[in-house]
Amino acid sequence: MREKLQKLCDTYGTKLLENVPLSEHTTFRIGGTADLWAEVNSTDALSALVRLCRGEHYPYYVLGRGSNILASDAGYRGLILHIGNDFSAIRMEDSRTMVCEAGATLVKAAKTAEEHSRTGMEGLSGIPGSIGGALFMNAGAYNYEMSQIVTSCTYLDKNGEIRERRACDLELSYRHSWFTDHTDNVILTVTMQLEAGDQAEITAKMQDFLARRNEKQPLNYPSAGSTFKRPVGNYASALIDQCGLKGYSVGGAQVSEKHAGFVINRDNATCADVLQLCKDVRRIVNEKTGYKLELEPILLGDPAGK
Ligand SMILES: Cc1cc2nc3c(=O)[nH]c(=O)nc-3n(C[C@H](O)[C@H](O)[C@H](O)COP(=O)(O)OP(=O)(O)OC[C@H]3O[C@@H](n4cnc5c(N)ncnc54)[C@H](O)[C@@H]3O)c2cc1C
Repeated sequence: MREKLQKLCDTYGTKLLENVPLSEHTTFRIGGTADLWAEVNSTDALSALVRLCRGEHYPYYVLGRGSNILASDAGYRGLILHIGNDFSAIRMEDSRTMVCEAGATLVKAAKTAEEHSRTGMEGLSGIPGSIGGALFMNAGAYNYEMSQIVTSCTYLDKNGEIRERRACDLELSYRHSWFTDHTDNVILTVTMQLEAGDQAEITAKMQDFLARRNEKQPLNYPSAGSTFKRPVGNYASALIDQCGLKGYSVGGAQVSEKHAGFVINRDNATCADVLQLCKDVRRIVNEKTGYKLELEPILLGDPAGK
């Protein structure tokens, strides 16, 4: 399979790497190695790679900026299709319409909006993910959410065909989209509609949200952001705090003392440490409060693998 993939990547000028440590490509800094890794640089290359893998029944996984991923200690036996810098163009189609390739970062997209005095992305500007990952998760913060600005997207279906989906068919809800239920598809581009705004106000809001993140979140430790989804009617961080679990540790993983909603990689944590810690937290919170917490980060690879 390696040779076939190499030949195809040579045709499209796509970088193909072997034995890539997932810990170097996830914000949690956890995970073993991926057998193969392609740095996606065009829709044609992506389509050809998907077709080849499907034809050969070879496993593949789409990775953005790795900021909502808990990767297995055993790594991944297959091909990672990395949608990163080589697929990250941003363009203003007209004064209100921004089109981003999936690998563009939210940080850069929000900066572009600011430069064009367009409002709607301020609250998303500190989220360390890609536009593709953000649509997949319907990322949001501070009352801003992808669902408020996305008008449509293009994607590659499981047969390697390009398709388009309008916002009304994207089933966007809290940390959910049509793509979270149809993981065989790869988001290519996302179109967003942004309103005219006052640049100084946009800048001030972005700075305020960044300052709030720095003040409240344990950004000096690796993590995948909020570890649990917000349960209906409450906040995961408040429930965990209420149960006295701030600072609770398993191996190198710890419930942050600064923000109970974040599990941090305090000291060379493994995926197994994080999963055990989350299991303990969920059990204790459920016993003490009746709430059932659900994990927000997505598992990559076999979680039971060593
Ligand atoms: C410090 C910190 C703070 C955070 N704060 C927030 C926050 O305020 N709000 C919030 O919502 N999230 C937050 N997050 C989580 C994370 O940044 C978001 O969920 C982000 O949208 C994930 O994007 P990504 O590119 O990193 O996706 P990844 O983590 O790489 O992937 C996440 C999922 O999306 C899929 N995916 C990625 N790209 C594509 C694509 N092109 N096509 C199809 N599927 C794709 C992957 O297969 C995977 O299932 C935070 C994370 C950290 C580390």
